[in-house]
Amino acid sequence: MLEVFPIPAFTDNYIWAMVNTEQRTCAIVDPGSAEPVQAFLAQHHYQLSSILITHHHHDHTGGVQALVASHNVPVYGPCNPAIPNVTRVLSENEQIHLDGLALNFSVLAVPGHTLDHIAYYGANMLFCGDTLFSAGCGRLFEGTAEQMFASLQKINALPDNTLIYCAHEYTEDNLRFALTVQPANKILQKRLNEVKRLRQQHKPSVPVCLADEKRYNLFLQCRSVAAFAELRKLKDQY
Ligand code: ZN
Ligand code: FE
Repeated sequence: MLEVFPIPAFTDNYIWAMVNTEQRTCAIVDPGSAEPVQAFLAQHHYQLSSILITHHHHDHTGGVQALVASHNVPVYGPCNPAIPNVTRVLSENEQIHLDGLALNFSVLAVPGHTLDHIAYYGANMLFCGDTLFSAGCGRLFEGTAEQMFASLQKINALPDNTLIYCAHEYTEDNLRFALTVQPANKILQKRLNEVKRLRQQHKPSVPVCLADEKRYNLFLQCRSVAAFAELRKLKDQY
């Protein structure tokens, strides 16, 4: 059976662990830090089988070198020499097969937050790094609003039952911002209360399925680049 666990890192990162519970093999997405991953593997007696990277930022790649030094596993990532130890460079529409997990993923190029940003889609899951967050989206550090809008449209077009595994727990803050834009929005108010409850219990607010995310996420609801750029600007100033 496949199970997916969040490994919390730094203040609000999630390093996602995909586990084949029979074989006890584990693929790790965006290990910004090696220690919490090593602790997770040791605690559950899981064997690391592969590493997947979405983009070059240190909070997503900082643990790669140490993990590869102790576990000689394939590292999948976008074309960016700044990312250490990548053994398979990926671009749009490429397919990968994760051995120990019997899982296939296809690669989506999702530039915007960074230019190298990719996402992994397979088995009704999307690992989207810092492109889409619950009720929000990544900041435009390198890409344009046009690029990010197109990337979000690509995600919008995935099946409604896709579970969105983003790399940060930003949901509560994103909902508070969304409510400054749409204060009377009952869906956002209800979701904020749910998320507050989850966070008080130290539970993650993600993953969220795409059908629900479309209801909470004003960035996904934008119908033009101009509307998206305006909303992103408001969030940057929030
Ligand atoms: Zn980032
Ligand atoms: Fe990040």
